[in-house]
Amino acid sequence: MKQLIIFGPPGVGKGTQAELIAEKLNIAHFSTGQILRDAVSNKTDLGNKAKVIMDSGALVPDDIMIGIVKDALSSPDIKTGFLLDGFPRTLKQAESLETIFDELQFNNVIVISLVADDDEIVKRLLLRGRSDDTEETIKFRLKIYKEQTSPILAHYDGNYTIIEINGIGDIEEINSNILKHLI
Ligand code: ADP
Repeated sequence: MKQLIIFGPPGVGKGTQAELIAEKLNIAHFSTGQILRDAVSNKTDLGNKAKVIMDSGALVPDDIMIGIVKDALSSPDIKTGFLLDGFPRTLKQAESLETIFDELQFNNVIVISLVADDDEIVKRLLLRGRSDDTEETIKFRLKIYKEQTSPILAHYDGNYTIIEINGIGDIEEINSNILKHLI
């Protein structure tokens, strides 16, 4: 069973690569950003709360996100495996995820770390133009990524297999670089 986390800054291409990987390996793809955006469209309590936070570029509280991921990973449709996209984003989330993995006996976790420089990321996000992709919000999200999310990688070093992949280039080529390590 494939147990994967895709990791990297906003705009590096996690969502795009995650979809391709999940499709090719026939595993479940959990994008916490997408789960939140679906909740926003459906105007659920979670969605209404999350919308303001997401539009500001801030992070949705850890306890909410941890609950969402715990439910997703406990679902029966992950028999063949899963790919987490957008989680964990804080050390607290990473620590809770370790507990969840222990409980569910997921102990072959592989982290796909996608890398690109800030200039490329800002360029792409401005082109994407989602409601949380304004210049100001992008700068704020990158700051949060550096301060709160990127330390997770050092925390994982030695515990999980980390595959580092260049996120700049042709989408299919990046994808085959990732899959080479997984099959
Ligand atoms: P990107 O990685 O391109 O910024 P995402 O779709 O992963 O886009 O996330 C969009 C927004 O959803 C984030 O800026 C944040 O507000 C919220 N979000 C997604 N995942 C998490 C998480 N694990 N913890 C807190 N907030 C999250």
